Amino acid sequence: MRTGLSVLGLCLLPGVALAQPEVPVEKWTGKTVMVIGAHADDDAMSHGTLALLQANKNQVYIVTLTTGNVGTQDPKLSRYELAEIRRQEELAALKELGIPGDHYINLGYDDGLLEFEDRKAVVGDLVRQIRKIRPDVLFAFDPGKRYQRWHKSDHRTAAYLAADAARAAMWRLLFEGHIIQEGLKEYQIPEYLLYDSAEGDINTWVDISNTVERKINAAAKYVSQWGPGWLEYKGPNLTADEEKDMKTRMRARVRLRDGKPVEGFRHYKGLPDSLGK
Ligand SMILES: [Zn+2]
Repeated sequence: MRTGLSVLGLCLLPGVALAQPEVPVEKWTGKTVMVIGAHADDDAMSHGTLALLQANKNQVYIVTLTTGNVGTQDPKLSRYELAEIRRQEELAALKELGIPGDHYINLGYDDGLLEFEDRKAVVGDLVRQIRKIRPDVLFAFDPGKRYQRWHKSDHRTAAYLAADAARAAMWRLLFEGHIIQEGLKEYQIPEYLLYDSAEGDINTWVDISNTVERKINAAAKYVSQWGPGWLEYKGPNLTADEEKDMKTRMRARVRLRDGKPVEGFRHYKGLPDSLGK
């Protein structure tokens, strides 16, 4: 919790107390980046930044916990159909960002019920991916958000599961089967960009001027979620008017600071034990 004193400290020591990245995100290169989300579109909150990182020769991997097989108002879609639609939408969106399709990993849990899955199994699945991908930076829902006020349960759960997995991945004797049987090694993620943070907790704004059009084009691929397919899905292709309307709405959601399009994060560097503070 921030005290008045630490707020004063923030003013006096910008960049120290704020814990912004030492090198601005816009200048990062050669890093491996992993994103954990609950649904195939949660990564869209960071798409401008992810496209920028991909363009700057970083490797971006998206790990999604659920198939998204519940999120529709179309009474005719089955879970199977929706899961398939959402996979294709995600791959199409990532293509717009320049992220290869084989960097998309879906862990296959059911949408809407993540909180009720076997948490040890889910954390184990995430730990395996962390130990395989060995990211320099993890993007995850901010586990420090005031979730006790209630928030979409899959997002709240994904925030905690990602933090729990980041912590478990560094301990050799947790999920030791990965190490003994699968040839993986324990791994400590050094740095985090947490998204969907409480407004006052955002300490890092990334200028996405160069990638905002890609972000909007990618967002327009989620036809079943943010487009006309939400009520009645008629396939991935939109009429010119529908596409224009969808992109206009997506553009209106882009945040601006000093006239520039931005994405905001809570940056954190250190042991995962303090990730939620
Ligand atoms: Zn979501």
